[in-house]
Amino acid sequence: MATTSFTKKTLGLETAEPAVTPPPSNGAETTFVKKPKLGGGKSRKREIPEGLWTKCPKCTTMVFDKELDENLKVCPHCQHHFRIGARERIHSLVETCSFEEMDAEMVSVDVLTFTGVSSYASKLAGYQKSTGQKDAVVTGIGKVGEHRVCLGVMDFTFLGGSMGSVVGEKLTRLIEKGTEKSLPVVIISTSGGARMYEGMFSLMQMAKTCGALAYHAKAKLPYISVLTDPTTAGVMASYASVGDLIIAEPGAMIGFAGPRVIKDTTQAELPPGFQTAEFLLDRGLIDAIVSRKDMKNQLIEYLDFMSVGLRRSAKG
Ligand SMILES: [Zn+2]
Repeated sequence: MATTSFTKKTLGLETAEPAVTPPPSNGAETTFVKKPKLGGGKSRKREIPEGLWTKCPKCTTMVFDKELDENLKVCPHCQHHFRIGARERIHSLVETCSFEEMDAEMVSVDVLTFTGVSSYASKLAGYQKSTGQKDAVVTGIGKVGEHRVCLGVMDFTFLGGSMGSVVGEKLTRLIEKGTEKSLPVVIISTSGGARMYEGMFSLMQMAKTCGALAYHAKAKLPYISVLTDPTTAGVMASYASVGDLIIAEPGAMIGFAGPRVIKDTTQAELPPGFQTAEFLLDRGLIDAIVSRKDMKNQLIEYLDFMSVGLRRSAKG
């Protein structure tokens, strides 16, 4: 298998290569230089045909995009887990046509009329257009195996998966729906933290989501938190770290402050593998590391196990 994909790789590169040889543009006469320059620029862009191959950052293999998509965005050579969009992930977890989305149209209000390099309003509009989503989380009720589950999935491509009032509100409503309907909650996180464009309004979401989860826990309902690359800051410091079960994808970066900030503050050398899922599993912060391909089956197994307890406690 490895050899076939290797030939594929070289084939792709070879086909791309002839286009790379740009005419040498060191001619002296300006009239002659201008024309080849245009051609040279174009062919340089074609060095790696865009949207066909992706270079794996871990093993540096060129992976055929179609192969990567079919493999749930996991490198077939080294099992590196690429980031995956919320829709794709939901599709990989729930039974076909079983997902009913909630609050799909909820959008942020620019309360602070925040303006930095560009305004928050224009950033929101830009990301809404490029991702086709209204904000950084998709929530709804779907079936995972036999279990109806309140599922919230974050999307890093929307403003770094940052948690503003929409992310907080949508997740809170999802959790409250779970409490109301006695359903388990599964939240798959990926986030750079609270959304600075919303100031305190985004920080308030930490307490709000955790408050809703506390009521959900009081009703003895299971909450599984899945941490994916990266889960940091305000999200890690709130709902992502309070799961009854906390699982992570292999190699995911998980932490509160980034390693550089910690290193600068403590002035200490950080241990190897610091803030990776594997490091945190070793130290008991997370309960299991589950690869993306096993995620659905593993979630079903956990939900089976947790609902047995649920049924027992309902009886007792
Ligand atoms: Zn790889």
